Amino acid sequence: MSWRVPLFDLDYDSGETEAVQRVLVSRWLTMGALTKEFEERFSSLLGARHAIAVSNATAALHLACLAHNIGPGDEVIVPSATFVATANAVLYTGADVRFADIISIDEPTICPNEIRRLITPKTKAIIVMHYGGYPCRMAEIMEIANAHGIAVIEDVAHAPGATLEGKCLGRWGAAGCFSFFSNKNLSTGEGGMFITESDSLAEKARSMRSHGMTTLTWDRHNGHAYSYDVINLGYNYRMDEMHAALGLVQLQKLPENNRRREAITEQYRNALTGLVDIPFNASAGDSAFHIFPIVLPEEIERRLFIDSMRTAKIQTSIHYPPIHQFSYYRKRFPKITLPKTESFCRREVTLPLYPTMDDDDVNSVVAAVTDALQALSIRLPSHKVHV
Ligand SMILES: *Cc1c(COP(=O)(O)O)cnc(C)c1O
Repeated sequence: MSWRVPLFDLDYDSGETEAVQRVLVSRWLTMGALTKEFEERFSSLLGARHAIAVSNATAALHLACLAHNIGPGDEVIVPSATFVATANAVLYTGADVRFADIISIDEPTICPNEIRRLITPKTKAIIVMHYGGYPCRMAEIMEIANAHGIAVIEDVAHAPGATLEGKCLGRWGAAGCFSFFSNKNLSTGEGGMFITESDSLAEKARSMRSHGMTTLTWDRHNGHAYSYDVINLGYNYRMDEMHAALGLVQLQKLPENNRRREAITEQYRNALTGLVDIPFNASAGDSAFHIFPIVLPEEIERRLFIDSMRTAKIQTSIHYPPIHQFSYYRKRFPKITLPKTESFCRREVTLPLYPTMDDDDVNSVVAAVTDALQALSIRLPSHKVHV
């Protein structure tokens, strides 16, 4: 399918190509100077004490759970309106998840009252996900968590560079987990980052990232160590130098690209307000504008809307099918219903949003949305007078 406007496009140029070529020529491919530099630059951009580069955000979430000693018998409260990895990472440890509903269609992030309802003596942590790059209600969530002695882990896959009350998302909780998957705000193909203010969490995550070993190849290469011990059951969650090189180039583009995403979001909002519901109208904080979600009127059948957009060569997506309705999760947690999540996830459509979109692209999307809504409302039962 050749799209008139794709859902997402990379902002790559010769900078990325040359950065990877330099790695290949250097003949040092993994866990070297660039990985370290990427960690340092990422942490200084966000004002974080520690940043640990990993193979992907799912690994970062798993490490965050492991660093908190979460395991069998424990419970972690998670949203269902998120990517499945948010919950999978908990289940890897042998702990259980408890799914929390969203606040509302206008604010589809984890609901603080739901967190209160779901806390039990087994609750070890809450994972929040800053949907679309828009901050969760962090002040209230941190207050609940602190009152119960529960950790907060942030899934910041949508929100690199977003802030709330002047503080970067990912730094509110005990640990923040970022994704650099191809279609994220900062793209390296695969990749992720674990950030924390805690020295002990950082030490544990760093060790678990590389087989639970006490020293790294790089240290041995530099003559800092000649042997190592294994002190934990670790994993291979490392990032390599090619990905770190891409990350360094992309990181420089991030602040400006987030501003461009914001401008496009504003254009969409101005053009579509009144036609569809647009979440985060009154968002607190400064989003990373990762995606542009719209919520269709109840009467419009989403499948037909998406078909109509496809005919206009506009690619759309859904964020997300709720986790608790996937077959695997239904079998495991059969009795769960989350009315607001289900309604939101049934009606949501994600429109194209990426920094290299131009005004023509935005106008094409808006025109296609307008046409699709018009065509589909004409077919509604209320318009068929004698049925
Ligand atoms: C992309 C994404 C992940 C997983 O990231 P990977 O780097 O692909 O492992 C987790 N949570 C959310 C909300 C995401 O969007």
